[in-house]
Amino acid sequence: MAIPASLIHSLQTATGFRKEAFEAVHDSGEQVVSIRLNPSKPFDSSHLPIAGNVSWCEQGRYLFERPFFTFDPFLHAGAYYVQEASSMFLWQAIQQIVPESYGKKVLDLCAAPGGKSTLLSSYFKDGLVVANEVIKNRANTLVENCSKWGEGNLLVTNNDPSHFQAIPGFFDVLMIDAPCSGSGLFRKDPTAVEVWSEANVTLCSQRQQRILADAVPCLAENGVLIYSTCSYSQVEDESICDWLLEEMEMESIGLTLDSQWGIVETISEARKAFGYRFYPDQVKGEGFFLACFRKKKEVFSVKSKIKNLPVTSKLQIQQLQAAIQLPENLSFFDQNDAIRAIETRWMHELSILANHLYIKKAGIEIASMKGKDIVPSHELAVSAWFMGGFPSIDLDKENALAFLKRKDFSAEGQKGWNLMRFGGLPIGWAKLLPNRINNYYPAEWRILKE
Ligand code: SAM
Repeated sequence: MAIPASLIHSLQTATGFRKEAFEAVHDSGEQVVSIRLNPSKPFDSSHLPIAGNVSWCEQGRYLFERPFFTFDPFLHAGAYYVQEASSMFLWQAIQQIVPESYGKKVLDLCAAPGGKSTLLSSYFKDGLVVANEVIKNRANTLVENCSKWGEGNLLVTNNDPSHFQAIPGFFDVLMIDAPCSGSGLFRKDPTAVEVWSEANVTLCSQRQQRILADAVPCLAENGVLIYSTCSYSQVEDESICDWLLEEMEMESIGLTLDSQWGIVETISEARKAFGYRFYPDQVKGEGFFLACFRKKKEVFSVKSKIKNLPVTSKLQIQQLQAAIQLPENLSFFDQNDAIRAIETRWMHELSILANHLYIKKAGIEIASMKGKDIVPSHELAVSAWFMGGFPSIDLDKENALAFLKRKDFSAEGQKGWNLMRFGGLPIGWAKLLPNRINNYYPAEWRILKE
């Protein structure tokens, strides 16, 4: 692979860069495949060619080869997420810098398709995670992936970074996985080389500063910022760290590394900020950069307006609770003819967020009511909250795939609503009628490949 000479030249001064080994690993054609397991959805993974653990993330697994993931019903059940191994270092960083996860409010600002957000929702299971994506169609993919992951603490918003200035000091943790020039993905996706340019690196660096300047005000004093890119370029990495220390009153946080991981610690030139570089010739993963900061600047929080959410009627809540087994301590509210729920302790925060942001998904959509009939929602089926209340049918792989394609499939069971499962994990709803089965798998998420 012809890596641009100007990139190679610029990296001669980057800490840990080894030109020959770097070029050789790009020429090797080797592909590293990895997944991250969903701790809330244990399943039998023996059909996957698991090769070992990702050392820095306890749920990370390497695979010997890339299976045809689309045809694995467990992927659609949210049992695992296909994620590049270096990115999973976020788990390690968070464990070290935010050891107490309870009650934390977390924003993942550049979130689609949802790799970091699903990881954060697993770590901050007792917290509230807002996954935001500015581009509308990418925000839809984010909703799909977050819904399948199933955590009720995961919200999705579709806003520009500047909109978060309306809630100064709101978040305890801010993740910015910034849009970048993408050189770290050259090995995985050789076509990325064709669109790389020095001019774009400069543009990306300026955009990264803009995004950070817009978003840092929503971080609380002493809150932590995690900044990452999949670019090797110093102007998108170490220089941004220097800029954060100079302009944004941040303090750098160092991490402890195991020397066996092959991750390179780098220290920025001007302000001596710590950063972590991932070179594919030295780690088992793709190119990546991550750095952590603590906000020193005092934040004057403004009293935020609260938007009262439309409350579900008591009668409907009683009907739902009689029919569906859900955790305790949930509050219910109405949105677009459906009833949604969130843990009661987050209702106040949700009301503040709803006042300033465009929320695409809050909590879990439980059901809609058609007269006295309860129509259970797909989000409920795949949520980690759902504890029962409907009969379920375990499908074999052939029928599970037909169900996920929204094609005819066969299932024997009681008439009425049934939860379709594969390998014990829910994948969606079907209604068994006397002479046919109605398939309620969301049309926009169906498998299109044959
Ligand atoms: N964090 C994601 C994950 O782990 O799956 C990957 C995020 S990707 C590196 C960067 C994201 O930033 C993209 O989804 C892109 O649409 C979004 N983005 C692009 N321009 C942006 C901007 N000006 N402000 C905020 N986000 C932007």
